[in-house]
Amino acid sequence: MTSKPAVLCDFDGTISKGDIGNSLFRKFAGGTDWEELIASWVRGEIGSRECLTRECMLARVTREEVVALAESFEIDEHFHEFADWCAAGGVPLAVVSDGLDFYIEVVLRKHGLSHLPIFANHLKFNEKGIEPEFPYFGKGCQQCGNCKGYHVRVHRERHGRVVFVGDGYSDRCALNESDLVLAKGDLARVCRETGRPYAPFRNFRDVRLRVEEACGRGGSDGRRRTGRGR
Ligand SMILES: [Mg+2]
Ligand SMILES: [Zn+2]
Repeated sequence: MTSKPAVLCDFDGTISKGDIGNSLFRKFAGGTDWEELIASWVRGEIGSRECLTRECMLARVTREEVVALAESFEIDEHFHEFADWCAAGGVPLAVVSDGLDFYIEVVLRKHGLSHLPIFANHLKFNEKGIEPEFPYFGKGCQQCGNCKGYHVRVHRERHGRVVFVGDGYSDRCALNESDLVLAKGDLARVCRETGRPYAPFRNFRDVRLRVEEACGRGGSDGRRRTGRGR
């Protein structure tokens, strides 16, 4: 077994500064219907698959508008350097998102990072507007559109260990599957509330230090499993 863990990173709010998916729907689907939809997702009444499908139905937006919005977002100033460091050191790095592949590709292309693997929901443009497709839905918890727990399991089987990096509620399913969780924002709060051990981070310089440590450790000593939280 290789001593290098795979690193799986959430996109919105973790790699990108700010939540592009949220901004997209706030801007092009916003209003009380949308606010209620998000609230019911946060309360766990609907899964993200249903939420995203309904958000896309509410949205009136063109391809050009999505590109312009996505390009207006910055990414973590240390992410590119981190991706280069992973590539040089043979650390597998991938993006896992319960958002939409289209805007992730726009942002990564803008920053010369198109080579990174992306596991996300697929955005389709049609004559009526936009529509999501869920290529990984059947593999996951049946609540998430793209369940991060599934991708952590696959990468763990392949690489032995997984470091997960995230900031939000859509990362919850990754918690019980990952060997090491680096968290900020809502995800850090979920970890504290559920007693799930995690390491806080501010940016990808912090992430790199933690991953360096994890690479040094090797083996399976970082492995810690707790019961499924839901
Ligand atoms: Mg996020
Ligand atoms: Zn899930």
